[in-house]
Amino acid sequence: MSRFLSDRFSNIEPYTPGEQPKVNNLIKLNTNESPFPPSPKVIEALNNEEISKLNLYSDPDTKDVIDAISKTFGVNSNQVLMGNGSDEILAFAFQAFCDKNNQPCFADITYGFYPVFCELFGLNPEIIPLKDDLSIGVDDYIGKNKPIFIANPNAPTGLALSLTDIEKILDSNKDSVVLIDEAYVDFGAESAVSLVSKYDNLIVSRTFSKSRNLAGARIGFAISNPELITDMCKMKFSFNPYNLNRLSIIAGKESVLDTEYFDRCIAEIISNREYTVNELKKRGFIIPNSKANFIFAKHNTLSGEEYFNELRKRNIVVRYFSKERIKDYVRITIGSKEQMTALIDATDDILKG
Ligand SMILES: *Cc1c(COP(=O)(O)O)cnc(C)c1O
Repeated sequence: MSRFLSDRFSNIEPYTPGEQPKVNNLIKLNTNESPFPPSPKVIEALNNEEISKLNLYSDPDTKDVIDAISKTFGVNSNQVLMGNGSDEILAFAFQAFCDKNNQPCFADITYGFYPVFCELFGLNPEIIPLKDDLSIGVDDYIGKNKPIFIANPNAPTGLALSLTDIEKILDSNKDSVVLIDEAYVDFGAESAVSLVSKYDNLIVSRTFSKSRNLAGARIGFAISNPELITDMCKMKFSFNPYNLNRLSIIAGKESVLDTEYFDRCIAEIISNREYTVNELKKRGFIIPNSKANFIFAKHNTLSGEEYFNELRKRNIVVRYFSKERIKDYVRITIGSKEQMTALIDATDDILKG
């Protein structure tokens, strides 16, 4: 730390991204990316003609991708805001809707970026513990009367709330913003987008990083009512008006339009998830019912850290969190069938000791 850093940030603990190893022969199951390339339509559209326009700024209104999204999701274009990844959407929301009189609340075990944004923006969140089975206790969120952030499905557990439960939370917190982070919703959970027209306090955030095979393009979006979108838009235009670059606007649009490729990739991930869960359960693992493109697995004899280290020796990288409540678990991203078979083989090798 230099002597120039503002005192405000002297104690800040930044988000730790999962490692992105430079080695080639690794099976990378640690950051919930898709094992599949972007849609062929995306690859085709990112051509030399578009690259040669990079001397020009991108469209600050990101109109082309918003039009595609609003059509696909059945909302108006003034109900959509694009972010440089959904992390940026989350940042806009924490910044716009939280302050010392509106302190946010979220689970003790959830997306690790929420507490980081709180530190960055000087907030003091209320942390609500998950239940013993690692699920979100809906009753704990009734009548909170403060901004609520819920990842649904939750990370890193993979457990999802039903739409009925989400609606209970919305109903009892009508004077506070409720943000549902649907980074993983496409892998089998129920989306709250249909509730946006009914609840003027609801923001749904989405990303192209997980289910649309575009983590490296940094594309996220929010769907909400026009007023909340306008508020978050103020954050964007006060920070980075060109938050989506030209190529990402094109990639996002083409990806959303190619529903057939999207459906195929999702179906494959779900099928590989079910395969992996079955095989690991046969081998003594306990796994909460995941509706995401990852699973959270704990073994009855092997410790989380040991399993992580032993997989790493066999060139498979998963994610391990040393946090007390979840230190027995590893989070495993669902990859291709071939990758998951390799994971099972490595697990057999580890267990035979
Ligand atoms: C991955 C993830 C995000 C953000 O992803 P982006 O790549 O920034 O779009 C947001 N929320 C959760 C729960 C995530 O796991």
